[in-house]
Amino acid sequence: MDCLFCKIIDGAIPSNKVYEDDMCLAFHDIAPQAPVHVLIIPKAHLASADEVNADNSKYVAHIFEVIPAIAAKLGLVNGYRVITNCGEDGAQSVKHLHFHLLGGKKLPESMG
Ligand code: AMP
Repeated sequence: MDCLFCKIIDGAIPSNKVYEDDMCLAFHDIAPQAPVHVLIIPKAHLASADEVNADNSKYVAHIFEVIPAIAAKLGLVNGYRVITNCGEDGAQSVKHLHFHLLGGKKLPESMG
């Protein structure tokens, strides 16, 4: 499959890894939009949040289970933001479900 994030999971494309287990991978965003900007992706190809269902939601649940540890590892003691962009109107550019973990400063209140 011609998917950038599947290639990062496979190691065909390098990434700056922050965390990895059998269900997900976290790595630094190549174009950070905050002092800390990490992407967390499931190791199953789901195109977006719109493909989450009862059969695959365990990946999403797992990602949210590990986010506190990833945030702590990155020093986000004062809070952070988790975002997933979905589809055209959501301005999603990579069609593999991913969660942006942003922090390291007081983020703007506006989200759209
Ligand atoms: P989105 O616009 O929500 O689909 O987010 C895709 C994100 O992937 C953007 O923030 C990009 O900067 C990031 N990105 C694209 N290619 C890479 C890469 N090779 N390594 C790390 N992050 C990437």
